[in-house]
Amino acid sequence: MIYLDYAANHPAEPEVLARFCAVESAFPGNPNSAHPAGRAARAELERVTTSAAELLGAKPEEIIFTSGATEANNLAIKGLARASRHVGRHIISTALEHSSVSGSLTYLQEQGYEIDLVPIGRDGRVDLEEFRALLRPDTVLTAVTAVDSELGVVQPIAEMREILKDFPSCRLHVDATQAIGRIPFSFEGLDTMALAAHKFGGINGSGILVKRADLVLEPQMHGGVSATRYRSGTPALALDASTELSLRLALEGRERHWAHVERLNRRLREELSKRPGVRINSPEGAVPYILNVSVNGIRGAAFQRALAERAVCVSVKSACSVEGTPSRAVFAVSRDRKNALSSWRISLSWPTTDEEITEFLRLFDECRQQLSK
Ligand code: PLP
Repeated sequence: MIYLDYAANHPAEPEVLARFCAVESAFPGNPNSAHPAGRAARAELERVTTSAAELLGAKPEEIIFTSGATEANNLAIKGLARASRHVGRHIISTALEHSSVSGSLTYLQEQGYEIDLVPIGRDGRVDLEEFRALLRPDTVLTAVTAVDSELGVVQPIAEMREILKDFPSCRLHVDATQAIGRIPFSFEGLDTMALAAHKFGGINGSGILVKRADLVLEPQMHGGVSATRYRSGTPALALDASTELSLRLALEGRERHWAHVERLNRRLREELSKRPGVRINSPEGAVPYILNVSVNGIRGAAFQRALAERAVCVSVKSACSVEGTPSRAVFAVSRDRKNALSSWRISLSWPTTDEEITEFLRLFDECRQQLSK
């Protein structure tokens, strides 16, 4: 099998799996219990939380462990919007968001919130002038991805933060799921930030919402105060510990991983661009981990299936989106519906090898020939 879908799921690092098992067996108590086993688990949870916070440029009380980025995005977006509903009901976002962001916004729209999407330039980045023009005194939230999962475009978060200084009622939520461990990124200057550990070598079903300490958020789950009053339920200590370790490993290896992935991406770009009818949709400045392509006249889903029959794993849009509809992200940069329907995504990571790229290119040609008939 050739696995080129790391943006959808990254295999857990062996040390991370070992850490999960070690913590799960060493700490049988519930961190919320007031006996020795509970206190030991609580102390370990605090250690893990403090370390994760340091790695993200946050304070320990700003960390909310979640089941992943979907939960973190839902909690931040609905929680912030609900908490500021008396200030205003206007929200700004983009067409590049993951369905856990756009779905939360649709839910809020049905509750009477007004949603505006900032136009995206041909480089895939938010148009800052348009962003400024959309902001209003009743804008309570801007929800934007730091790196989108389909094209890999890096958004101008620092510039957006600067603009938002003139709009003190507007909170900034950043979905950093595809950014953490890939580009230098921290929580500094943000209001909330979502991430998922399974995108960088952690275990599925684990993530973090970072929330500025002085900010109020309406919880989405009710029933008991736990590690934080924003998310009830018994803390998943072993998952949280494995998340912290995967974060540490991803950040320590970031530059080395980037150099390796960038070289493979350059090779893919060069080779694929030589083939007639192939269009590279990821702009030049996109992260090398994600390469979005289209083959003229062939639906993305058909190409993906042909590759899958040859044991090659790639994605059409993101793993959680609706099949058969054109990619909103690719449409935003190409303004071409047919091209958006033909698009699909290759995503690389540090385990990807040169041999896999060579074999992928051979199978790509085979699929193209078969589907062009
Ligand atoms: N946000 C982005 C940018 C993603 O790529 C993903 C997953 O593909 C998510 C959110 C959702 O993450 P999770 O699967 O942890 O819920």
